[in-house]
Amino acid sequence: MNLEEFVKKLGLTINPKLHVVVLTGAGISAESGVPIFRGKGSMWENPEARKLASKAGPPWNTRETWEFYEWRRKLVSKCKPNAAHYTLVEMEKYFEDFCLITQNVDGLHGKAGSKNVLELHGNMWKGRCVRCGKIVSLPETPLKNIPPYCECGTALRPHVVQFGEPIDPNVLTAALTACSRAELFFVVGTSGVVSPAAQMPLIALQHGAKVVEINPNPTVLTPYMTISIRGKAAEVLPQLWKTFLLFSQKQEVKF
Ligand code: NAD
Ligand code: ZN
Repeated sequence: MNLEEFVKKLGLTINPKLHVVVLTGAGISAESGVPIFRGKGSMWENPEARKLASKAGPPWNTRETWEFYEWRRKLVSKCKPNAAHYTLVEMEKYFEDFCLITQNVDGLHGKAGSKNVLELHGNMWKGRCVRCGKIVSLPETPLKNIPPYCECGTALRPHVVQFGEPIDPNVLTAALTACSRAELFFVVGTSGVVSPAAQMPLIALQHGAKVVEINPNPTVLTPYMTISIRGKAAEVLPQLWKTFLLFSQKQEVKF
């Protein structure tokens, strides 16, 4: 893999004024030890996860749902952010207009130090009251009480968007706005089959952005990408960022 060639092919001068958006999926946390959602290495290969998930369901503030989430939270509590998460922290510091959009609920971007993260699908370290809507931080696992309760006396649900549920309109609007003004867009570790996240790189493309995919496997998005880099996020992203920075130091060079 010659990353210099990839960077040249993009035809962009990297500078802090560039509008940059990054969309991440389960693949960015794979090397941290968080199982992905589909295919080989997915959470569903574990029979315990399947059994617990089968008992979880609406209204999502039940003991059964929290037993499934506690299983996931315990697993993720042992995982640390990896080099890809940390690279995005560096990128956020470098670019003046940088937007990180994630489909992940594991909270690892925040743990790495990313400041502004649009969590499309919520965060497993938070609960939400089904009555008053209050969002409560629940960083400890195991929880003292299952289900945990809101101060209004109602059981909380995980602050995670379930299949078929809408994304918080404020979060979605912010993400779509960022996509439409992106000049450089990275899609990292997503299979591109969950909407509306899957449309975001395409929206950016329509508005003229260069879109770079980082994934060890081809996806449904691959045919549309400006560049697809086959590799693991924790290996490719730090190297790619280093290559970008080397080029940015030669500001006079315009590719
Ligand atoms: P997905 O499981 O559908 O796809 C994961 C993608 O990551 C695949 O394309 C795979 O090839 C790629 N991948 C695997 N290892 C990788 C690596 N080391 N580096 C880069 N890419 C790698 O995940 P998705 O597209 O995010 O959709 C799954 C949905 O499930 C999301 O909506 C998310 O909310 C939820 N989910 C979240 C987590 C998490 O928070 N970490 C984990 C599983 C599922
Ligand atoms: Zn409440």
